[in-house]
Amino acid sequence: MPLDLVLRHARLLDSDAPCDIGIADGRIVEIASEIAAAAPEERLDGRLVTPGFVETHIHLDKSCILDRCKSADGTLKEAIAAVAAAKRAFTEADVYARAQRTLEKAIAHGTTRMRTHVEVDPRVGLRGFNAVRTLKRDYAWAIDLQICVFPQEGLTNDPGTEELLIAACEQGADLIGGCPYTDTDPPTHMARIFEIGRRFDLDIDFHLDFDLDPSWMHLDEVCRLTKAHRWGGRVAIGHVTKLSAVDYRALAEVARRLADAGVAVTVLPATDLFLMGRGHEHSMPRGVTPAHRLLAHGVTCSLATNNVLNPFTPFGDCSLIRMANLYANIAQAGREADLKACLDLVTTLPARLINATDYGVAVGHPADLVVLDSRDPAMAVAELAQPLFGLKRGRRSFTHAAVALHRP
Ligand SMILES: [Zn+2]
Repeated sequence: MPLDLVLRHARLLDSDAPCDIGIADGRIVEIASEIAAAAPEERLDGRLVTPGFVETHIHLDKSCILDRCKSADGTLKEAIAAVAAAKRAFTEADVYARAQRTLEKAIAHGTTRMRTHVEVDPRVGLRGFNAVRTLKRDYAWAIDLQICVFPQEGLTNDPGTEELLIAACEQGADLIGGCPYTDTDPPTHMARIFEIGRRFDLDIDFHLDFDLDPSWMHLDEVCRLTKAHRWGGRVAIGHVTKLSAVDYRALAEVARRLADAGVAVTVLPATDLFLMGRGHEHSMPRGVTPAHRLLAHGVTCSLATNNVLNPFTPFGDCSLIRMANLYANIAQAGREADLKACLDLVTTLPARLINATDYGVAVGHPADLVVLDSRDPAMAVAELAQPLFGLKRGRRSFTHAAVALHRP
């Protein structure tokens, strides 16, 4: 088969030996120590080729609204209220423009698959959903976008929300999310989300246990419902900051329960750091659950961006390598094996979380690849390696020009 492109002398995540990667018709068709073919080529000189980064949790619809939200105390409650007020004025064009700006940053940092949470309720209706659905179609050349519709401000306490969620599911939402901590009746909220997920055969992704009180956890009920509905492997929970406030033994116990039920965990370091521990004046708790410790117990985990330039997180450039570095730093994950795990937490593990079946640098898979300016997986995280260019289904989707120093 004639090749469209050969990546020469690439280093892969799971092997020290450099190799060539042959690409044809959008797919990886050959991986060998040397491919003899007269095809267009990129010489990588031993640089790392990873599968495209996978973002499992981001809010495109409410990104980039700092200019219209006032923050005073920086709490979760304040952030929810500020966005609740702002989103009444959201139009489809406005959501599209802001979401586009955020999505393009993610693409330029090497993300090729993404799950975005989109708010649906009587304030915003389906305007956010419709805008992101259009964006999904317009950017399919660069990224596979999953839309998870969810009720940020509660379900049972917010008449009309469930009907809108169901309408979004009928119109092609990829999955359903929940947010029981804002509901006046969390158990019914979780039960209804599972019922909708079952009805439309959708994976489920909750915002969950987002405080530092470990005396009770909604994850117990989510694990119970996951087993009762036989939905193991199809349920994820995001934040779960309560698990940053328990000792190792308690963490191991919960981890075993999560693994047993098939419930995955997404940790959101930027938001969790920004919003947790606001009751403290000093010696702030980090409030970030140790994802790399959960892995040892068989829990599928990911690190993700969550919010960008809004009252939940007034920071962000959508770089997942940055998120891996930030997490490694605050989780004190400095050993080589831990740093490598941090790279797994933005690539192979989130791919498993979103149930991607054709992911990874392997023959037959889509050529969704990122070339990093690094020759070592652990050092790529330690040094925030620059993604140099990326491919989506074999076609180049972004390029960063190499840095030049201009000596006198
Ligand atoms: Zn979120």
